[in-house]
Formats: sequence, structure tokens, C-alpha cells
Amino acid sequence: MLKKIIILFLAGWLCYACSSVPVTGRKQLSLVSNEEILPLSYGQYQEVLKENKVVRNTENAEMVRRVGQRIQKAVEEYMAMNGWTDHLAGYEWEFNLIESEQLNAWCMPGGKVAFYTGIMPVCENEEGVAVVMGHEVAHAIANHGRERMSEGLVANGLLGGLSAAIGQNPTLTQELLMQSVGVGTQLGMLSFSRQHESEADRIGLIFMAMAGYNPEVAPDFWKRMEAQSAGGERPPEFLSTHPHPETRIDDLKKNMPEALQYYKK
Ligand SMILES: [Zn+2]
Repeated sequence: MLKKIIILFLAGWLCYACSSVPVTGRKQLSLVSNEEILPLSYGQYQEVLKENKVVRNTENAEMVRRVGQRIQKAVEEYMAMNGWTDHLAGYEWEFNLIESEQLNAWCMPGGKVAFYTGIMPVCENEEGVAVVMGHEVAHAIANHGRERMSEGLVANGLLGGLSAAIGQNPTLTQELLMQSVGVGTQLGMLSFSRQHESEADRIGLIFMAMAGYNPEVAPDFWKRMEAQSAGGERPPEFLSTHPHPETRIDDLKKNMPEALQYYKK
């Protein structure tokens, strides 16, 4: 553990293998490139679709796809506006609804999105779906999965980058990826760090606003989400990774004027 902290600290301090998060500009550890992670991500996404029941041709499935495509367009516009189009190189967007009672949704590197049917009632409507979609896509655009993957490789002593890690330990590398993007954990969409969550909240508001959804519905969605998860059993890590609900709502409100500048009614 101490060794891990020292390595992460040194890596961060030297900013060796660092990149910047679009929108916020934060420096992040980046031992893994998109060229390396995208093929792995696409392979794992296909596995998830194969192992689960994908809902097709229902109203909800169509809604997830429609919102996804609108958010995708907004992201492409936003990145082009800022000269960051190259960040999206190799993206192969896809939006699927999976039959599962889990309160979960995620976006794997490269724009591979899944919503679980369990989260649909909490979304309530298309705008609610847009809150979740904006947030999850923001995690991918901010390369949070890649950052966590990098930290996971360091923690496991796999310092030679992703290709070397796959060669050394393919199973562990795949597990790291799934954990890094929040797939296959009951915590699902709540399992990122607080820093990642607040970054995704801020960027997500901008994306949903640009896609034509009113970002002002976001605080109410997160209140409903909180009410749902409060009913269940909370593993200890929930408390350390989940943003304090009131802080989250306050931060969303603080970021609202920025997002509203992008809102296209
Ligand atoms: Zn999140």
C-alpha cells in the first residue's frame, strides 16, 4: 500500500505519463493510451452483451439510444469547439439497455454505453436518462477509466503499460479494466472516486445541456438516486467513494450557470 502511494505520488509529481482532463484541465496519470485500451474495451463490451439479456425495440431501449446519440453529437460539437477532436479518435459509440434490476449505467472507454433496466424508473423520463447519460459519458471523455486502470497497473506492479500487462497477466488486466469502468460491481455508477464523480457531474451537465436537455433536472435525479440507494445495504467503500449527497447537490447548483450557457432549448 505504502509502495503504491509512493509510486503514485512520484508519478504525479514528475507528471511522468500524464495527460489533461478535457474541460477541467486536471492532470491525470496516464500509463495507458486509447490505442491500447479501446480494443480491450470493445472486446469486454461484447462479452457483457453476450452474457446479459439486451433489451431491444422497447420504448426504453429506443429512449436510451436516442438520448445517447444526442449526447454523442453534443460531445463531438463540444470537442470540436475546443480543438480536442483527436480525443475522440477511435470512438465507436454504442448505446444498449440491459435487463437487470441493478441501479447501474456505465460508459466504457470509446463510448460503449450500457443502461440497466433497474435505473430506468429512477430516471423517470427522457431528461432523467440524459442526466445519467451525460454523467457516464463524461467519465469516459475525462478518461477516468484509463486513469484508474493506470493506477491499478501501478498497484499491481505492472509498470510496463497495458500491452505488457496483457502479456504478463491477461486475466488480471481484464478484471482491472472492468473494475476501472465500474462494470460488474453492485456499486456501479457510484463507484468512482469523489473527485471523478464531481468532474463527471460538471462535464455531464454541459453535455446534456448542449444536447437540448434542461440540466436543472439533475439535482432532483441525484436526490431520487440517493433515496433509492439509502434503502439498501451500504458497503463501507460506498461511504468513502460516494460524494456526500448534500455536497453533490450544492456542487451541481454551483455548476448550473456554466451548463445553462450551453443549453439549447
Ligand atoms: Zn459517476
